[in-house]
Amino acid sequence: MVNEVPIDSPAADYRSLLESERADLLDKLKEIGSGPEGGLSYDSNFADSSQVTAEKGEVETLAAELRDALEGVEDALRKLSAGTYGRCEGCHEPIDPLRLEAKPAARFCMSCASRR
Ligand SMILES: [Zn+2]
Repeated sequence: MVNEVPIDSPAADYRSLLESERADLLDKLKEIGSGPEGGLSYDSNFADSSQVTAEKGEVETLAAELRDALEGVEDALRKLSAGTYGRCEGCHEPIDPLRLEAKPAARFCMSCASRR
């Protein structure tokens, strides 16, 4: 009975992996001038230039990608708290821990991901 490890204890510390990924994404969003809720902090005085409009489009695409990734990370954190983390959303089988360590916010197992 000494040093008994609960069977459902995760092998890797996914929470800290996810939290550092979240901090990283928030940093990047801040860098490009966008908050996690969207809305870019552009000076409205520059809004008429077509070049700025094009750049703004690129930044918005990047911001959308970052927000998507952030959403996935937060979703994974919610699942950790709910105790449903690490299950594939497609087939409901456990996701390979190696895959989770490489990509903690993964929502699908390898075979479901490759079918998408
Ligand atoms: Zn699956």
